[in-house]
Amino acid sequence: MKNLIISLLLTLSFITFQSHALWYQHTFDTMGTRAHLEFFLEEDSQFSNQSNLIITSIVEEMSRLDKAMSPYIESSELSLLNRQAGLREVVVSEELFSLLITADKISQMSDGAFDITYASIGYQYDYRNNIRPKQAIIDKALPAINYRSIQLNVKNSTVKFDNSAIKIDLGGIAKGYAIKRCIDILRAAGIKHALMSAGGDTALLGDRNGRDWLVGIKHPRTEQKNAVHIPLKDEAISTSGDYERYFIEDGTRYHHIINPKTGDSARKVVSVSVIGKDATVVDALSTTAFVKGLEEGMALINSLPGYEAMIIDNEQRLHFSIGLQQ
Ligand code: AMP
Ligand code: MG
Repeated sequence: MKNLIISLLLTLSFITFQSHALWYQHTFDTMGTRAHLEFFLEEDSQFSNQSNLIITSIVEEMSRLDKAMSPYIESSELSLLNRQAGLREVVVSEELFSLLITADKISQMSDGAFDITYASIGYQYDYRNNIRPKQAIIDKALPAINYRSIQLNVKNSTVKFDNSAIKIDLGGIAKGYAIKRCIDILRAAGIKHALMSAGGDTALLGDRNGRDWLVGIKHPRTEQKNAVHIPLKDEAISTSGDYERYFIEDGTRYHHIINPKTGDSARKVVSVSVIGKDATVVDALSTTAFVKGLEEGMALINSLPGYEAMIIDNEQRLHFSIGLQQ
């Protein structure tokens, strides 16, 4: 009875505040992960229905990008590339082309630690069913991991792979790009305070109405627990962790972040979070620093103005980049 009264009161207060400034939230599944949207609306009414329109446009944008970039959707532009770019030049959308250019820049900057052709071997792992490629298969396929084998022709937005063994995957960068697009949509709709997250990637618009947002970084070994909370506003933060998709075989953890030099999972650290303005770059950099490990990963982030990192090493110690140390 008490619960019923409380829930009635909550419902009533929600209705009462419907026409005033209010926080709206929506959680949904997309791009193979859980997405979460929160935003503050100064005025909304049953008539303008702006909150619902905003939620719909965000859900649709995520779905649009999933349809373009998912490796699991046969008709996606990405799948088309993987089927055909080894054989001939393929024309792609401006949007995908520019994401491929960004990925290429991060590959160059990281000496190939970030490499979307990791998929040439990466697609042979199946973490749900504890399947990994045998060493002989990795050895044979390893030459197909090389971002330099992707030819990007800027003039006519075409993509060509050096050969048909090469496959690409945007799992390390696409969610960051998608949440960045969502923040652009929210800003264009006049929203001043919002949070958009997809899996381990979060982008913030403004603050939380006068206070910083507190973004939790998952504890790498204890589910449902956070290792730390970081106060942020107007920035993006991405976490790459070895606990997202993995299986353990004979004490070794096989997980979804692949060292392009070995074709095996990267195991120098367990979690990397990167903070910065550009959600796309932040997403790619967290994957990059994860592959590079503590020393090289941190050195890379410290060399980039406007980017910060927090790394959890194999002993579960926290390390912060220079700008986060105060
Ligand atoms: P994130 O959780 O952002 O670190 O992204 C992990 C995802 O990035 C994986 O699920 C793969 O789709 C992709 N990935 C794995 N290894 C690499 C790599 N070395 N370079 C680029 N993308 C990668
Ligand atoms: Mg990433």
